[in-house]
Amino acid sequence: MTAGGTAARLDAVRRTLPAGVVLAAVSKFHPVEALREAYEAGQRVFAESRVQELLPKIEAMPADVEWHFIGHVQRNKAKALVGRVALIESIDSEALLGLVDRLAAERGTVQRVLLEAHVAADDTKSGFAPEALLDYFRRGAYRELRATHICGLMGMATNTDDTARISADFATLRRLRDEIAATATDLRGFDTLSMGMSDDYREALAHGATEVRVGSAIFGPRDY
Ligand SMILES: *Cc1c(COP(=O)(O)O)cnc(C)c1O
Repeated sequence: MTAGGTAARLDAVRRTLPAGVVLAAVSKFHPVEALREAYEAGQRVFAESRVQELLPKIEAMPADVEWHFIGHVQRNKAKALVGRVALIESIDSEALLGLVDRLAAERGTVQRVLLEAHVAADDTKSGFAPEALLDYFRRGAYRELRATHICGLMGMATNTDDTARISADFATLRRLRDEIAATATDLRGFDTLSMGMSDDYREALAHGATEVRVGSAIFGPRDY
């Protein structure tokens, strides 16, 4: 794809989003030039999935970019991540949450995170099982966090052409978010529901997504 297409595709995606929905431009595997073009077209929220790719991009891009991390967080990379990104969307275990909290406390910052819920039928995807997630909030374990703000949930739908299945997955994520909010009534600012990617973000919006994570529809196909 031509570099000149990024701004036009970004604009086309933006036009489909209701006011107030956050668009995270998923720039993984794309060069800094592509990110710059999106930035110049007004994009400020970018999402990356690998720490070793994220860090040089943070250095190369303007300081007012809001970085989201959406990849699997390896324990040995967590230290490089905490305090460097506005939002870690892919917290997939209590152990990782505990580690992030400890690192954030050490750094003297508050790390904003989303908990990743696994509702898809594919077992390649990571995340908390819905029951484990509800259990975490019923136990009130989040009250022990010192330096972490749980802002909501992130999830993915099953990778399928079956739109009924995709819609059902997004409906499940939405229900989970609402159930947690009703359970943990003292939890403040638990309102983000990050769901939907290039091929399914329209369905996600219909089910109440407050953030969509769109990569290839903006930047073109990835060159792995
Ligand atoms: C890569 C990725 C996306 C974006 O996928 P596209 O199909 O390119 O829009 C969204 N969310 C997560 C967690 C990803 O890893």
